[in-house]
Amino acid sequence: MTRRTFLLSTASVTAHAAEAPRSIAITMDDLNWMPLPNPTEINQRLLDAMRNHQARLALFVIGRNADSPTGRALIQPWKDAGHLIGNHTYSHRSYSALTFDEFSADVVHADKVLASDLGTPRLFRFPALKEGDTAVKRDRMRAFLATHHYRIGHVTIDASDWYYDNRLRQRLASDAGFDVSRYRQPYLDHLWDRAQFYDNLSIEVLGRSVPHTLLIHWNLLNSLFLADVLEMFRRRTWRIVDAQDAFRDTIFLRAPKTVPAGESLLWALAKESGKFDNVLRYPGEDDVYEKPKLDRMGL
Ligand SMILES: [Zn+2]
Repeated sequence: MTRRTFLLSTASVTAHAAEAPRSIAITMDDLNWMPLPNPTEINQRLLDAMRNHQARLALFVIGRNADSPTGRALIQPWKDAGHLIGNHTYSHRSYSALTFDEFSADVVHADKVLASDLGTPRLFRFPALKEGDTAVKRDRMRAFLATHHYRIGHVTIDASDWYYDNRLRQRLASDAGFDVSRYRQPYLDHLWDRAQFYDNLSIEVLGRSVPHTLLIHWNLLNSLFLADVLEMFRRRTWRIVDAQDAFRDTIFLRAPKTVPAGESLLWALAKESGKFDNVLRYPGEDDVYEKPKLDRMGL
């Protein structure tokens, strides 16, 4: 094949991929209920939003947050409704700040607490998507997870919902009458913008739109707006799929050899290719990218 025909066939693959239907699964991290006065109500609103779209998510639970009667009571309805539970370490410390021995012990601790909760496939997600700051740590952890029959619960669409939630809660703490609906559209716009970015990366790097796994958190913000998030994607013709089905795609078996390892799986595959350094920032997502926008809007 000449260079010219290769370029032409790449262009036609990309054009075809650009028209293919999109699908997205929700993955929700942390179950961080302790700072909130009404965790049962928040849990119920999140469950209702998913039920109304007849989709099941993957809930990556911090072991510490499950290690009490309240934590157990919050997880149970997710299990009853067939959602997938994953391991997100016991104490949620970043692998970058720990040795392999410390971090793997934290994974095992959560594995013991969540033993009766974990679904199939057995999924593990790294805190802050940090998979190792050296090649040795990265590869030791990958081998450890395989030995313990875990797959990495990769994210394809990363975002900063946690930062929008932090700001919203701070605002409510200082102004109890604050109109929370002011966060709705900026949050939807942020998620849509990130979905477009990572989906374009998917087509550029892989030649196709993968079944996406969106990372959001179990928090106040999503208890208010998850229903709107799902409705936004549906209206824009994205199919909301079960996380268990999305994770069957072969992309989730890829193991990019980047250092530091982690971020969105699409970010890491793009980084590994060496062709996208002009569009990749590090970290992929962070509060510093969002702060000026929210400041401007007075949120
Ligand atoms: Zn987390």
